[in-house]
Amino acid sequence: MIKKEVLDVLCCPFCRANLKLDNNNLICANKDCGCIYQIAEDIPLMLIDDAKRPCPKCGQQREYKPEQKLLNCPQCSLEYRGK
Ligand SMILES: [Zn+2]
Ligand SMILES: [Zn+2]
Repeated sequence: MIKKEVLDVLCCPFCRANLKLDNNNLICANKDCGCIYQIAEDIPLMLIDDAKRPCPKCGQQREYKPEQKLLNCPQCSLEYRGK
């Protein structure tokens, strides 16, 4: 189980929002981002490349474009820029 103190200092690497613990996942609290980071053997995998990145509009996995710091939905073209 991940400790609350650890959770308090972790934030989303893409948008810097807080994370919510949900079973074995850390979910970004920012609804426009909403990336889901897995926890493997008590270690949170805080890489945007490995995260689930569901589109808040259509649910499709969004593409991550690190050079523009952008999440782009291939289905509905919704874009979200990180911080
Ligand atoms: Zn986020
Ligand atoms: Zn979409």
